[in-house]
Amino acid sequence: MPVTRAYVALGSNQGERLRLMQLALDFLSSHELSIVQVSPIYENRALGMAEAEDFLNAIAEVNTSLSPINLLDRCLLVESEFGRVRGKEWAPRTIDLDIITYGHEVIQHPRLCIPHPRLTERDFVVHPLNAIAPDLVICGQRVSDIAQSLPIDELTLTDYCLHF
Ligand code: ADP
Ligand code: MG
Repeated sequence: MPVTRAYVALGSNQGERLRLMQLALDFLSSHELSIVQVSPIYENRALGMAEAEDFLNAIAEVNTSLSPINLLDRCLLVESEFGRVRGKEWAPRTIDLDIITYGHEVIQHPRLCIPHPRLTERDFVVHPLNAIAPDLVICGQRVSDIAQSLPIDELTLTDYCLHF
């Protein structure tokens, strides 16, 4: 399999958020997936989720020989490994992994949409992505331009960082 550059968003708003994100990142990497760089971690208000803890969010840039669906399955395995309980859409989640882009591929599959459909409205995805890949072009738009037109709402840069 050829190696493809992909971006994976990590989020956690339950439990030991930073430790879970680090574990998820460690678990994600394998001989089929290497981490190239990781964005700073941002903290984001868990809007619409009553009494939920705030989110930590970051983006990992990866090189992978996994196919898009195999990468999704890998992400879902990481989520289930760390005990996310699926249920209500806005249920708290220990760890959430989303594929933001996979090379320049556009995928509309019942299980997988790439680029991630809600990407451009999520400041907690766009701003960390902009910190590591401002020149990346998604659907004809540079990430830095998407970031510029997306106001930061309750998103703060933290001192936490992920190791790889
Ligand atoms: P969100 O992360 O958007 O809040 P969920 O994590 O609850 O939503 O959605 C999970 C489902 O979304 C997965 O089971 C997967 O099949 C589907 N999905 C579609 N496109 C993607 C993508 N690009 N990355 C991750 N999951 C995706
Ligand atoms: Mg998800």
